[in-house]
Amino acid sequence: MLSVIPNPPRTALPIVGSEDFFPVRRVYCVGRNYAAHAREMGKDPEREPPFFFMKPADALQIVPGADAVDHPYPPRTANYHFEVELVAALGRGGQDIPTADALDHVYAYAVGLDMTRRDVQDEAKRLSRPWDLAKSADASAPIGPLHPVEGRRHPMRGAITLSVDDNPRQAGDLSEMIWSVADQIALLSTYFELHPGDLIFTGTPSGVGAVERGQVMQAAIEGFGAIRLNVV
Ligand code: MN
Repeated sequence: MLSVIPNPPRTALPIVGSEDFFPVRRVYCVGRNYAAHAREMGKDPEREPPFFFMKPADALQIVPGADAVDHPYPPRTANYHFEVELVAALGRGGQDIPTADALDHVYAYAVGLDMTRRDVQDEAKRLSRPWDLAKSADASAPIGPLHPVEGRRHPMRGAITLSVDDNPRQAGDLSEMIWSVADQIALLSTYFELHPGDLIFTGTPSGVGAVERGQVMQAAIEGFGAIRLNVV
């Protein structure tokens, strides 16, 4: 049997120190996982816990190294926001995964951005509509190369930062997550059977804001390098 259209390419991520690659299955994201960010979005993190949403895997934009790449400003927004996030890449799947075992399922970590049409999201919130148009623009999930866990520790703390034109905009610490990476995996696995190839964008610290064409974003996480994007 033949495909009646060209096979859509599967997104595959480069791995630091290797010629091999990591094929992506699903992209899960956590919303409002840092208390200060929840507050800047007008929410009380004490009263409303974090939650999950998804992006399509083909919304990933691969940033292979430290060199800047062009990032396309998407159509249908006038308020396009950056959100720097630690990304966990799962090497093992499962259902109802105990929190104590959850980190054994992580193959690697990377620096990612959950780019968001904030104006579209604000309207979706107001009208109680889904977030897909806000969260799933083409290239709306830039991601750097994967850093395999093997031989190193899982990151429990470390600076997570974003600058625009070298001006600091977001500055947090991984230790400030409300749901830890292990909590996220355990909880997600009660909703879905998780599989190797799944990614989790683990939430953003405070300081989110808009970028414009012509600006340069740099997202960095201690121990996982930095990615640079020219917004075009
Ligand atoms: Mn986010």
